[in-house]
Amino acid sequence: MPRRLDNWINGAASAPSTAAYTTGLNPTNGSPTVDIGVSGAADVDHAVACARRSADAWRHFPSAERGRILAAIARSIRDNADRLADREIEDTGKPRATALGEVENSAAYFEFYAGLVNLPVGELLDVEPNQHIFTKREPYGVIGVITPWNLPLNQAARAVAPALVTGNTVVLKPAETSGQTTIALARIATEAGLPDGVFNVVLGAGSTVGSAIVAHPDVRKVAFTGSVRTGRAIGKVAADRVIPLTLELGGKSANIVFEDAELDLAAKEAVRAFASNAGQVCSAGTRLLVQRSVHDEFVAEVVRIAAALREGEDLGPMITRAQFEQVQEYFEVAAKEGARPALGGSVTRRPELAGGFYVQPTIYAGVSNDMRIAREEIFGPVLVTMPFDDEREAVSIANDSDFGLVAGVFTSDIGRALRVSDAIEAGQVFVNSWSTGAVQTPFGGHKNSGYGREKGIEAMYHYTHLKSVVVVY
Ligand code: ADP
Repeated sequence: MPRRLDNWINGAASAPSTAAYTTGLNPTNGSPTVDIGVSGAADVDHAVACARRSADAWRHFPSAERGRILAAIARSIRDNADRLADREIEDTGKPRATALGEVENSAAYFEFYAGLVNLPVGELLDVEPNQHIFTKREPYGVIGVITPWNLPLNQAARAVAPALVTGNTVVLKPAETSGQTTIALARIATEAGLPDGVFNVVLGAGSTVGSAIVAHPDVRKVAFTGSVRTGRAIGKVAADRVIPLTLELGGKSANIVFEDAELDLAAKEAVRAFASNAGQVCSAGTRLLVQRSVHDEFVAEVVRIAAALREGEDLGPMITRAQFEQVQEYFEVAAKEGARPALGGSVTRRPELAGGFYVQPTIYAGVSNDMRIAREEIFGPVLVTMPFDDEREAVSIANDSDFGLVAGVFTSDIGRALRVSDAIEAGQVFVNSWSTGAVQTPFGGHKNSGYGREKGIEAMYHYTHLKSVVVVY
């Protein structure tokens, strides 16, 4: 009998009230994995009720104790790194080194926020005699977290750690297909001493479980990571309910390489930027803008490096069948737009991978920024390149996008690096490396890439609201 994956509610496994399950698929070969619970609104009601019941006690826990529990969760994630990586690989097919890196990063979130348990602090305002005015930051209560399938454990840790450390309780829904490590995290948290009901996970569809979380009157803030389309739908409900929302949506991020850059390094980074996690990250650098004087030679080097990436070893599969189909549709869009691949442009040609959702690393060179393949997020290992003549034009092409998540600038001129960083409409800019930064670095978008910030101390402000207390004596 296949293994069953049940909800985690009030510190224990909890079968979905619907008694319904769906079978997960291993994206490397299409074989069945676990039977995943398909919950209904009743399970959300149950989870939110437990989260609400535990909120008052958790909020008033001695802060040092809260920090100690988060630190214990971090330790346990590390102790279970291999097992967590196994489960993540089963759900997503990603290379082992990538999965282990994400597990370590997830531990780092809990460790980082454990140490910040007494932040953010309030202020004391000196206004008039016989007055004592102070501000304090308070938790919202129950936070709804909705995560996608590309980095399941990592995305869960990124939201749950700052939400918990600031005294909130959480109801989280992972993506339909990839809940194993999120459930494992909830179990680890309970075993590490987190009180029952403080962190609950409900498995199921976005249209039922996800929307029930967003609409629930006791959910006081939502943190969402996923597509623009779903982000908009959630935004409308949040607007009606007048609750705050953090939206971490898509990207079509520009990576700008000037002729004076250290080109060997820039070429390696350009490949990492678009091919990490087989391009299934919102912060992928998928538009490579290269100064015209070096464009052709530079792109040839990028093609050479990317051609060495082997599907099934360096490049994981598309994580869902729908995503596999979407990337293939974009190969057709590219052909219709007259873009010819300098590399790849099809599903894998390796016969031993034929049952999996693998595509080739793909590069379309010298495209125009108004093509769909240059404007829309493909979410696969697909790069487009464009030449530019000068700094002004580079910034203009980079900003001519509906998105504004991240950007890269490669140059040996520090003044130019700072000017371009300043002019780019994006939540983060990487200079001479493509690194989304450690857990300490705030992360979020401009334009359709969303609003609010995850990570860093900044996230703690997003999981708390401010109260001013005015005492007159
Ligand atoms: P993708 O298209 O990449 O699957 P989605 O934005 O649809 O991205 O999914 C991200 C997360 O949002 C998943 O957990 C999904 O189940 C959830 N989701 C989808 N639709 C809704 C909705 N209407 N309300 C709340 N959550 C949703």
